[in-house]
Formats: sequence, structure tokens, C-alpha cells
Amino acid sequence: MPTDWKEMESRYYMRVVRRQPVVLVRGQGTRVWDEDGKEYLDFTGGWAVNNLGHCHPTVTEAIVQQARTLLQTSNIYYTIPQLQLAQLLVEQSCLDRVFFCNSGAEANEGAVKLARKYGRLHLKGAYEVITALNSFHGRTLAMVAATGQPHYQENFRPLPVGFVNVEFDSIEAIKRSTTENTCAVLLEPVQGEGGVNVPSPSYLKEVRAWCDERGILLMLDEIQTGMGRLGTLFGYQQFGVEPDVITLAKGLGNGVPIGAFLAKERAAVFEPGDHGSTFGGNVLTCAAAYAAAKVIVEENIPAKAEATGKYLHGRLSAMKERYDFITDVRGMGLLLAMEFRDTLSATIVGACNQEGLLLNAVRPNALRFMPPLTTSLAEVDEAVARLDQVLTRVGRETGARA
Ligand SMILES: *Cc1c(COP(=O)(O)O)cnc(C)c1O
Repeated sequence: MPTDWKEMESRYYMRVVRRQPVVLVRGQGTRVWDEDGKEYLDFTGGWAVNNLGHCHPTVTEAIVQQARTLLQTSNIYYTIPQLQLAQLLVEQSCLDRVFFCNSGAEANEGAVKLARKYGRLHLKGAYEVITALNSFHGRTLAMVAATGQPHYQENFRPLPVGFVNVEFDSIEAIKRSTTENTCAVLLEPVQGEGGVNVPSPSYLKEVRAWCDERGILLMLDEIQTGMGRLGTLFGYQQFGVEPDVITLAKGLGNGVPIGAFLAKERAAVFEPGDHGSTFGGNVLTCAAAYAAAKVIVEENIPAKAEATGKYLHGRLSAMKERYDFITDVRGMGLLLAMEFRDTLSATIVGACNQEGLLLNAVRPNALRFMPPLTTSLAEVDEAVARLDQVLTRVGRETGARA
């Protein structure tokens, strides 16, 4: 008898996520397959991670080669992939120094530590970080405090101090909340988990100017927007600002767990002993991430994300014209959302599973699209056709109820 993996999960795994009823065993490019051999178009992109698609041959080859050579050493020794990746990221960005860790939350934790040390050195001990409502910065205790969404916070109080959550896309809200205790502002260039919220074009420029005026750091959480997702290698490049610090994870390793934070020289205030990680900058993950980042840069994958994103945005917008229960299509590059008048997301995601299309219900009334940046226009057409089938059915059913 085949193993019932869903039953096994319900028995042994911590109850932290309502899983979709899909057991994935294989992936290639934009497609994944379940245990029965059924194929799906993965428009969750491994959760905005597989920017080059599943099992990209260059990345897989780098992992295999490195796994045969050296897996792990201590960071008290030099290892080469770590330094190659550091050089590439610094040369391709406005930042000067990098630190590698193992996840997004950990990258943000490091960035906040950096900001607190900066505050200690240059801002008379200021320690507070301003973040936005509807943001998402990770699941550690401090990042739960940074994340401006009450449902992530309520069960875990008291939360670490030093975070103020203010309205997103409002320079006035940031100005009002800035005090002598403020050392930094931490924002996503486009909010991902919060519903794919694109700020007005002037917002980050105004925040930059305010941070300069007050001598505080502008830190951008590019964990979801970085590595090409918005149509440029880094999201900040879309908004005409240079941040003092950025954090990366998700797309950085194309599927291996790696995070990073990068800082301008003047903000890179750590000294030996201030920070560290056993696995951070690990040879295997850095070899994979270096291979992935090289492909992203050399093949100008961000430009592909821009073009494919425009195309998908156009196809989704055309659907909005045809279905009156679609109220909005928004986003940037290949980070897009479709919003509904009612809380239809769960129903639609369930039906899309059956049609062979993986999507994320980012809000009860909104879907998020974050496919690999290498997704072809033909695959977009295929995904849109599968979604169209589902929306026609849902439209008929909700119409019948109306
Ligand atoms: C996913 C995400 C995180 C958290 O990353 P983890 O690797 O899950 O810790 C933080 N910030 C943003 C913007 C994210 O999208």
C-alpha cells in the first residue's frame, strides 16, 4: 500500500500550516509533479525562491560539484564560493559589504543588530526601528515585532521592544514616529506577504530624504523583491534610491537556504565578535547561490522578469474586464496580485490545484503570482488558461448564489 503522506503529516508534524493537498516530488523549470505524476505550473515559484525555476541545471551542477568537494568549514577559515558571491553582490549593488546567514528572518535580525550598533556609535544610543503596517519580516521574536500585522504578534507577547509599526506609503507617518530613539527605517520596496502593495513612486525617495535629514539608516527588506523579481536585480533600483542596508534570502539561493545582509561602508559598523553564524556563508549554499546569481546577471534575467511580468499583468488585467468579481490587478515585475470583491481565494486556489496550477492565497480576497522569472510566455498562457477555467466555474457558482 502506498504511504499516506498527508496522514503522516497530521500525525507527526507541528501544526503550523494548513497544507494544500498536494505531495510534490519533482520539479523542472516552472513545472512540478506530485506523487501520482500529475503536473502543475508552479506560480508560487517555491515561494518566490526558484527565480531560475526548479532544478536549474547550472545551479544543480554547482551543488553536486561542491557536495563532492567540501561541504562545511568554520568561518574562521576562508572559503572561496563565499567570497565570489560576496564580490558579485557588492559589484552589482550600491552596497559595500555583505554577511551571509541562513534565512530571511535571520538576515533582518542581523540588519537590526547593525542598526542598533550604528545608533550606539552615531545616534546617542538610538535603537528603535520604524517598520510598516502590513509588512512581513519573518518569524523570529524580534521580526514578529517588526512585522506590522497583529495576527502574527498576538500569541507571542510580550514582544521585543524597539519596533514601531506605521502606515505604509505615508512619509508623514514615518516623520510623526521618528524620535531621538530612532536609528533606522526598515521597509519592503513592494510589500509581498502583505498583499503585493506597491507604494507611490515618490515614497522611497521621500523616506530616503527624511533618513538623510535625521541621520538614520534606510534599510530595505529585499528578501522577496531582490534577485530580479521586480524587473531589476534589486527592487530599490525601481525607485531611484540607494538604501544603506538591504537584506536578501528567498531568490538568492534559487532553492538552497541562504540569506544575506549588505551595507554601505559607513553603516557596516560590525567588528570581530559582534555577529556570526555557524552555517552562514556555508560553502555549499554559497556555491549554489553564486552559480544562480551569475546566471541571473549574465543572462539578464531581471529584464526577462520585467517583460514576462508585463505580459502576465496584461493577461490578468484582460480577465478583470471579463469577470466583474475581480476588483484589482496590481504589482511589479513578476510579483503580482489579483483581488476579488469577496473572499474567494481559498476556493480558487483549491480549484486551481485540480486544474494543475499552484497559486498563493495572499489574502482571503487576493491571489499572489510569483512564478520563476524564467517562465516562458507560453507557460503564462497555459497558466492563464487554467485560471480562466476556474474563474468561469467560480463566476457561475457565485453568480448563481447572488
Ligand atoms: C519571506 C520573507 C521574509 C522571511 O524569510 P524567511 O526565510 O522565511 O525567514 C522576510 N521578509 C520578506 C519580505 C519575505 O518575503
